[in-house]
Amino acid sequence: MKPETINSELNFDFANILFGGNCNMRCPFCIGQHIDPARTPDNLREFPPRNFDTFLALIRAHNITEITFTGTRTDPQLYWFEGELLRWLRAKLSNIHISLHTNGLLALNKMDVFNQYDRATISFSSFDPATHRKITGVKRMANLPEILRRATVPVKISAIINEHTIGQMDAFLARCAAIGVRRVALRRLFGDTRAWDVLPGETPVRYFRNNPVFNFRGMEVTVWNFRETSTRALNLFSDGTISGEYLLAGEIYSTSV
Ligand code: SF4
Repeated sequence: MKPETINSELNFDFANILFGGNCNMRCPFCIGQHIDPARTPDNLREFPPRNFDTFLALIRAHNITEITFTGTRTDPQLYWFEGELLRWLRAKLSNIHISLHTNGLLALNKMDVFNQYDRATISFSSFDPATHRKITGVKRMANLPEILRRATVPVKISAIINEHTIGQMDAFLARCAAIGVRRVALRRLFGDTRAWDVLPGETPVRYFRNNPVFNFRGMEVTVWNFRETSTRALNLFSDGTISGEYLLAGEIYSTSV
């Protein structure tokens, strides 16, 4: 896509690099199942990702200052050139803030790369192995306490609210606080319209993009309601497609790593 095909008057909150390929988890809700496979080919061994020069031109043209490494159906830490792409971006773009959205399984193996981001969000919904397996489809769990201990960048936890996790929420948040987590995002799965009483009796201290933010056990806990969220992202898909459509940005941001 040429830069001029994106409306030059659009404002973007951030940009996503969406890697494609096999994942090391098998989450039953993965948004990758709902995206045209032609848009999400495996690019885990491609450097740089397809159409990257155009993507960079759009980032400059729209003065975007935040980029997220994430995936449509894979974990971005499975990308073979993760460190190289980080260094390349920092060399080409000044004042850029780069985030990682990961499931955390590879974090300890790649801690040197993990700590090159400006911040990281780890999708992690339960410390209970049985619940973890229901959410992710795999037994293996990220060692969150050790990741927190070795991280030199801010780490946020992103957890799913559903019938498997709602009853454990208090214990989950208590454990997060105990291992040093300072920010948690609690999110419903895309399309889930059930009204969860996530933090009974708690009053939001503020709202972020229409989502309530609580001060809970010393942590900043945001309860994301994606129907109420107004963010716009510039997305680079693994086939080289660049999309500024809100619909794609909202769905992908809410449900993939
Ligand atoms: S939701 Fe994320 S971690 Fe789970 S299978 Fe999809 S890409 Fe992998």
